Amino acid sequence: MTLARMEKRQEPPVRTAEVLIVGCGAAGLLAAVSAGELGLSCMALERRHRTGLKLLMCGNNRCNVSHDADVSEMLAAYGGAMAEFLRPALTRFPPRGLRSWFARNGLGTCVKNGRIYPTTENGDDVLHCFTDRLRDLGVPLTLNCPVTGLEPLPDGGWLVRCGGLSLTATCVLLATGGVSYPKTGSVGDGQRLLSELGVEVTPLRAGLAGVDVRDGWLQAPEKCEFLQVVLTVADASGRVLGQTSGNMLCDRGCLRGTAVFDATRLAAHHGVTEVSLTADLCPGVTSASAVASRLASGGLESLGVPSALAAGLRRALPSREVGRWLKAVPLSVAGVRPLKEAIVTVGGVALGEVNPETMELRSHPGLYVAGELLDVDGPTGGYNLHAAFATARLAVQSMAARGDIACRRPEARPVPQERGARRVERERGVPSSSASSARPRSSCDRRPGNRWDNSELTRKWSRDGGGSPERQGQQQPSGGHGKGGRKERW
Ligand SMILES: Cc1cc2nc3c(=O)[nH]c(=O)nc-3n(C[C@H](O)[C@H](O)[C@H](O)COP(=O)(O)OP(=O)(O)OC[C@H]3O[C@@H](n4cnc5c(N)ncnc54)[C@H](O)[C@@H]3O)c2cc1C
Repeated sequence: MTLARMEKRQEPPVRTAEVLIVGCGAAGLLAAVSAGELGLSCMALERRHRTGLKLLMCGNNRCNVSHDADVSEMLAAYGGAMAEFLRPALTRFPPRGLRSWFARNGLGTCVKNGRIYPTTENGDDVLHCFTDRLRDLGVPLTLNCPVTGLEPLPDGGWLVRCGGLSLTATCVLLATGGVSYPKTGSVGDGQRLLSELGVEVTPLRAGLAGVDVRDGWLQAPEKCEFLQVVLTVADASGRVLGQTSGNMLCDRGCLRGTAVFDATRLAAHHGVTEVSLTADLCPGVTSASAVASRLASGGLESLGVPSALAAGLRRALPSREVGRWLKAVPLSVAGVRPLKEAIVTVGGVALGEVNPETMELRSHPGLYVAGELLDVDGPTGGYNLHAAFATARLAVQSMAARGDIACRRPEARPVPQERGARRVERERGVPSSSASSARPRSSCDRRPGNRWDNSELTRKWSRDGGGSPERQGQQQPSGGHGKGGRKERW
C-alpha cells in the first residue's frame, strides 16, 4: 500500500528504521557507525554518489581529525557561546576518546605539531575506517539520495522525503554540513529544511578563507610561504579585532595558511566583511632595532622572507624606520575569497534551538542535528572535524538513551585490522578474505606528495552547481578554481 493511501486511511506508516541519518560526511559517518555499534535500527542517506567527499580533502588529504588538547583547551579555541554549547559533547568525546574510538575501529592516529592525523597521514584511510565498519555492522547506506523534505508525523516520528521515496523513522539526525565546496554535496539543504520548519538559522559566512591582496610585492608568480607571521586583524575603521599567528602562503596575490584562515574566521565572527590586515613578518625577532640590524647583516631572507618575494619587498621598504615597518606591514586587502571556497561555514542552526546535552532540536522532538550544519566552527588544527564527530556521537548516544528506541547490541565482532596495515597489505598484493582489500584505491592514493599539490578533488569540489541532483555525475572541465587555479592548504 502506498504511503499516500495509508495517510488517507489514517494508518500509521510503517517505520523504515528507528533512526535515519541524513548526510554521510564526517558527522553522519561517525553517527552511523556509532548507531551500528549500539545496535540501533539505522539507515544512512547520502546526497552524492559517494560518502565523505569533504573528508577526503581535509588537511591537504592528510586529514587532521582533531587536536591534541584537553577539553578546556579545546573549548577555549572555539570560544564564546560555542564553547558552552560544545562542552557536553566534548566532555563525553574528547580528542583522547576519539583516538581510542578510531583505534578500536582499526585506525591508528599520530600527533604532529599538536594536530591529530591517521598514522598513515592518508585521509582515504579515515574514510575507509568508517565505510568498512558500516559494512561490518550491517548499517544500510543509500547513495545518490538527496533528502528533499522533512515532516513530523502525527503519532510522533518523522517522514523523510527523498524525491519520490518516503521513509519514516522515530528519530532523524540531520548532518548535511555547511555550504562551502558545494560539489562535495554540502549545499545548504539542512539549513533550508530546518528554516522551513521554523528553526532559526544564523547568516552563513566564509570562515577560514583566503584573502586577495593588491600589494605589488605579494604578486610574485611563484608560490611561497612565510613559516611564521602574526596578523593584526581590524575592521575598515581600524578597530582591532584580534591577532592570529601561523604560516602564511602567498600565491599571486592570494594569501592563505593558518594565520590568514584564522584571521578571516575572526572577521566573520565580528560580522566584518571589509577586513584590514597588518603583518608582523618577523615575530621571532622582538624589537624593531634587532630587525633592522638583522636586515643590514643578512638581508630579508635572514628574517624569514621567502626569496621569491625578497626583491619586490626590498623595493617596497620605506627609507626610514625599516625595522618597525617590517614588524607591522600594512596589507592592502582586496577581499576575502567567497564562501564556496572557504574551509568552514560560519553560521548555521542557531545554538539556542538545540539542546546541547542531546543535540535534539528543542522545538522538534526526535529531530537531531550535528556537524557543520550547526552555528559551530573552530580555528585550523582539527577543531572542525572534532566538533562534527563529537556532536554526532552525542546525538546518537542520546537517541539510544530514549525509551522509545530499541537497542540491540550486535554480537561481538572481531577487532578490525589496523587500517594502515590493511592498506600496506593491499599495496603488497597480500591476499585477504576481506572484501575491502579488493576495493580500488581512490584518487587520494595517487596524489603527488607536494603539499601545494592537493588532490584534484580540492579544485573540483569548490565549484558551484555540482551538488544539485540534476547535475550530479556531470564532469566539470579541470582547471583551477578561483584566482589562478589555487588550491587549499589546511
Ligand atoms: C579543503 C578543506 C579542508 C579541510 N580540512 C580540515 C581538517 O584538516 N581538519 C578539520 O578539522 N576540518 C577540516 N575541514 C572542515 C571539515 O571538513 C568540515 O568541518 C567537516 O567535514 C564537517 O562535517 P559534516 O559532516 O558536518 O559536513 P560534511 O563533511 O560537509 O558532510 C555533509 C554530507 O551531507 C551530505 N548531504 C548534504 N545535503 C544532503 C541531503 N539533502 N540529503 C542527503 N545528504 C546530504 C553531503 O553530500 C555530505 O556528504 C576542511 C574543509 C575543507 C573544505
